[in-house]
Amino acid sequence: MSISSNFSATYAEARAKFLEACMNRGLEVESHHNDKARGAEGEDLYMDVARLGPDEAKKVLFVSSGTHGGEGFCGSGVQIGMLREGMLKDLPDDVAVVFIHAVNPYGFSHIRRVNEDNIDLNRNFLDYAEGLPENPEYAEVHDMIVPDDWGGPAFKKAEEDIQTYIAKNGLGPFQQAVTGGQHIRANGLFFGGFEPAWSNKTLRAIVTKHAGNATHFAMMDFHTGLGPYGHGELIYVGDPEGLPRAIDWYGDDVTSPEAGTSTSAVVRGTINIGMCESAPQAQATCTAIEYGTKPILEVLNALRADNWLYAKGDLDSDQGRTIKKEVRDAFYCDFDDWKQMIWERGISVVDMAIKGLAKS
Ligand SMILES: [Zn+2]
Repeated sequence: MSISSNFSATYAEARAKFLEACMNRGLEVESHHNDKARGAEGEDLYMDVARLGPDEAKKVLFVSSGTHGGEGFCGSGVQIGMLREGMLKDLPDDVAVVFIHAVNPYGFSHIRRVNEDNIDLNRNFLDYAEGLPENPEYAEVHDMIVPDDWGGPAFKKAEEDIQTYIAKNGLGPFQQAVTGGQHIRANGLFFGGFEPAWSNKTLRAIVTKHAGNATHFAMMDFHTGLGPYGHGELIYVGDPEGLPRAIDWYGDDVTSPEAGTSTSAVVRGTINIGMCESAPQAQATCTAIEYGTKPILEVLNALRADNWLYAKGDLDSDQGRTIKKEVRDAFYCDFDDWKQMIWERGISVVDMAIKGLAKS
């Protein structure tokens, strides 16, 4: 089978392929049902988990897809391919690999970055007892990001305001203001939520179950939408003291938002925080792999359009269908060359993570 056949056109297709590939490998699957939402075709939604390697392994690699819903086509294709190709059979002693398929199954199915409550999960892992962060920069750009119409006068005014903002502050600060995460506008972009989401609580339980006794775990969370077409940027997230270890494992092209070397803005409330809190005894080496699709302003515009559609538009309209196609194209390049690039880099970074864990 070709590499492209491991990728899917819908969440339902991806899930069926994942379950079948696990079954063919004789792997048990833990399926966590999301009672709060249904899929785009009315289907049930699950976060599915399969573990390879010994139950008692003290070093655990989590390979996850679909934290940002519609970005899930990419990571799912790599997970399914690795299962189908018979990989990860001869893991080093004391290393296990845990596949988490569709961390955000609602977004995967509806081709949205966010979950059923418009929450960006990678902004949701905060300490809510401490109170929510204030987001004055986002407050300044919200009306430009979510205009009252899409393509009409409010949209045109918003476009001008964005250009003025960028001319005054720069593209980097604009990206930071929009994408850094916000907890003030539930119908806005990069909304982090007011409380832990279903995926947040479910993921924590999975990590405690599989790494609660681990000495070391690693996270490889698959994303799309930033950077050059097909390029897989490995972004280190977490305690700055772990960055040299990540560079030792993966090479010196590992980037860090805090160090200003990543295409990603500095972001609060990312999933690695929840994973670390769920296995606090373990050393953690957490990375996201971020694959490029389209230029950043096109991706941001697709996200804005999608957010506008759900906040103020009509899904069942020509405009709605056009926007959904744009969103899909922004997350997922449905081309063989792109999938080949995703696959090669994907299996390479997973292999490096396993070797890194083995020697740690
Ligand atoms: Zn993402």
